[in-house]
Amino acid sequence: MKEKVLVSACLLGVNCKYNGGNNFKEELLNKLKDKEIIPFCPEIAGGLSTPRPASEIKGDKVLNIEGHDVTDNFKRGASEALHLCELLGIKKAILKAKSPSCGYGLIYDGTFGSKLTTGNGITANLLQENGIEVISDQEYIERGE
Ligand code: SF4
Repeated sequence: MKEKVLVSACLLGVNCKYNGGNNFKEELLNKLKDKEIIPFCPEIAGGLSTPRPASEIKGDKVLNIEGHDVTDNFKRGASEALHLCELLGIKKAILKAKSPSCGYGLIYDGTFGSKLTTGNGITANLLQENGIEVISDQEYIERGE
């Protein structure tokens, strides 16, 4: 049976990014050929629309660039991701680096100035806390797995 992997939908070419675009990575798709891919976008699952204002984590909240608190949407998206992993028996997630939802290890610092800080996105964090292996797209490609 193929290994099931949750993958940030934008990495697969789905136009779910905040600006209406995507982060398609052919190299990643090629590396996932022998896996069962489950595309997922936590921000859409959390009730946000596309396009939408960019958001970043600031303290214990997620704020968009217009100053609105979208923490609840981000938390809802994360819990939907975990629900799907539990339902389908997914043990690994390959998530888009730096995102306030999907980022793992490094995320934007909350100033909207393209600066990074250590930390995890809301979804990456919840999955990891619940025993799902989280790997950023960059790391997965570099690993040569
Ligand atoms: S929330 Fe994740 S899957 Fe959705 S657009 Fe952002 S990085 Fe991609």
